[in-house]
Amino acid sequence: MNPTVLVIEDEVSLSRLLSRVLEEEGFHALVENRGDRGLAAAVAAPPDAVVLDLSLPGMDGLQVCRELRRRELRMPVIMLTARDAVPDRVRGLEAGADDYLVKPFAIEELIARLRAQLRRAGGPVERLTVADVVLEPGARRARRAGKELRLTAQEFDLLEFLIRHRGQVMSRQRILDHVWGYAASPASNVVDIYVHYLRHKVDHDHAVKLIETVRSVGYVLRP
Ligand code: CA
Repeated sequence: MNPTVLVIEDEVSLSRLLSRVLEEEGFHALVENRGDRGLAAAVAAPPDAVVLDLSLPGMDGLQVCRELRRRELRMPVIMLTARDAVPDRVRGLEAGADDYLVKPFAIEELIARLRAQLRRAGGPVERLTVADVVLEPGARRARRAGKELRLTAQEFDLLEFLIRHRGQVMSRQRILDHVWGYAASPASNVVDIYVHYLRHKVDHDHAVKLIETVRSVGYVLRP
């Protein structure tokens, strides 16, 4: 699967060039010409990396970067700055960018830095989907019908475990062993309590219920 790179750049000639070269280099390139639209695109379908111009209409690059990080989107962000001004670079990195390039730059340099960042980030983002639930284990992010599910660490692990074993009935003991990772007493009702929390967050507002109870055995997540 080709890594997806979102280019947020308002200079049309540059964004077209970047898009073409990225595609030639084996990336899947998406382009947005405004900061606010770029942010919306990155939130709706998180790319594997973002190339972000500093000065943009709608919302500037620093703001876009801060908003991405605030939403816990941790994909590599390479900032493009118009001038080699130290404050801009520092502000870019402080806003959560991973690297920066000063315009004008060699496209090969950008490609090399992108590859380096993607290697560091561990390659393309893994996404697990069941029905309208999308889970990104790397970013520890979960959504249902496009809406963020605010899960605790344990709830996230439990949902990830159930999704990875979708359609298979999982006993309480197996869930305990895998999600909690300690030899808990079989009488412990921690699994039931967490399934209850998870149901409230995942299924409560939706007609289609994904988490099913299998009486006296455990739980199963069905698409
Ligand atoms: Ca610009």
